[in-house]
Amino acid sequence: MVEIMKGLKESNKKHKKERDLKKKLTPEQRHILMEKGTEVPFTGKHIHNKEKGMYVCVMCGNKLFSSETKFESGTGWPSFYAPALNDSVKTEKDNSHLMKRTEVLCKKCSGHLGHVFDDGPEPTGLRYCINSAALNFKKEKKK
Ligand code: FE
Repeated sequence: MVEIMKGLKESNKKHKKERDLKKKLTPEQRHILMEKGTEVPFTGKHIHNKEKGMYVCVMCGNKLFSSETKFESGTGWPSFYAPALNDSVKTEKDNSHLMKRTEVLCKKCSGHLGHVFDDGPEPTGLRYCINSAALNFKKEKKK
């Protein structure tokens, strides 16, 4: 019983954290994450960031992409060749705007992040084209 209560308390805490993060979203972030919007290319804050660290979901804090897989794609959006973890993202078919694309969503909160294409660099050959506005950057702490 105590364990169950503890579990509930933890889960409540987690949900509160998610709600607080959601409240802090700007209108543009809401549009991208919840209405599958796309930011104007070359306007996002993470495009040219070369610091070491982790990009997390701006809506739920889930770890999404590591700086180690980031590359310069020239597209105007932050690009990665792989997600950080198995539980980072999920994909769905997206046939909107007369294009056949694969949508990338946060696996935890289902927020829209961007799209994935198969013209990326080795070792995966994938290009995760992600909106800066969907990401928070957590700089790696120096040891
Ligand atoms: Fe999320």
